[in-house]
Amino acid sequence: MQGKMNIKKLVKKDVVSLRAYSASEIPCRVKLDANESPCGFDEALKAAVLIRTNRYPDPEAKALKKLIARDFRVRPEQILQGNGSDELIYYLIATFGGPVLYPVPTFSMYGIIAQAFGEKKIAVPLDDAYDLDAAAMLTAVRRENPKLIFLASPNNPTGNCFASERILPLLEATRGIVVVDEAYQPFASDRGFLPLLKDYPNLVIMRTLSKIGLAALRLGFLIASPEIVEEVNKVRLPFNVNALSQAVAVAALQEKKKLKESIKEIVGERDRLLSAMAMIEGVTPFPSEANFILFRVFGPDRVYRALLKKGVLVRNLNDAAPGCLRVTVGSPRENTAFLSALEKIQQQQRQEQS
Ligand code: PMP
Repeated sequence: MQGKMNIKKLVKKDVVSLRAYSASEIPCRVKLDANESPCGFDEALKAAVLIRTNRYPDPEAKALKKLIARDFRVRPEQILQGNGSDELIYYLIATFGGPVLYPVPTFSMYGIIAQAFGEKKIAVPLDDAYDLDAAAMLTAVRRENPKLIFLASPNNPTGNCFASERILPLLEATRGIVVVDEAYQPFASDRGFLPLLKDYPNLVIMRTLSKIGLAALRLGFLIASPEIVEEVNKVRLPFNVNALSQAVAVAALQEKKKLKESIKEIVGERDRLLSAMAMIEGVTPFPSEANFILFRVFGPDRVYRALLKKGVLVRNLNDAAPGCLRVTVGSPRENTAFLSALEKIQQQQRQEQS
């Protein structure tokens, strides 16, 4: 038998210094921390009874791709399915490698996965309006020649879309791939980057079903040229999307009216939350095109804890976006509970100060 072993010594240096993505489960009454939708698709679950548990899932997810192709007016060969779009980020970096360029703050998985692969990460700060710093991004493109550029638009956690006049020059200047991560596009007012696919062979669009009521399924997909899809497909694990998720997603995506209405309700609630939050003294919400709102408060750690004490869980982003918390748009009742808790906390703080 081997004696005591230092496992860390065996682990790749880049992985030892990584911090795991924190997705801890914190008990709460009102869960507004993970950008999930308040609307589920319980009816679609019935499709799961048709699954034969002894058989592998369709490795190509054909039925799902057919539906997505129709909805997005692309060909099935332009689509690649992932176990969440997280997995597609992994596959993209496995396929193209680094350097990997992205603005910060943004979704942390671009940096975590790049580091896991030992690839060089280039993080360029956003400007004061949380838009891309066009000059700094272009300089990084020219100097570092990144293989991959990740742009989440709408961006997480800031909630804004990047100006397309700042994205287009990057698409033109780079000799690598530009991935526009449109996880939150269903809540945005513009049309996103899909129409540009035909003009830019180096453009990849990423989408997910997680934010529109199907987070439990873990289903994301990318849309790109057939050549890109063919290459990334080589690193995809054979049965990466399980049969239950495929069946339920196919059923849910056909509930077009419900999907549309739930998105409309979330957008309406987001705008209600934004106006109400702006009225609370000491709270600065940032405009959002997504299903969450980033907001600045005095003493974010204290406000985070106070909200949790009242049963409301939000995301503390004080590290990535100093002074800020992020709240997901929930159901009208959840949003009202959040607003009233935040109002009371701010009121109490004012009383303590006076
Ligand atoms: N991209 C962005 C910008 C996100 O915020 C998230 C989820 N937080 C993802 C991708 C990952 O989504 P999925 O659930 O499809 O892995």
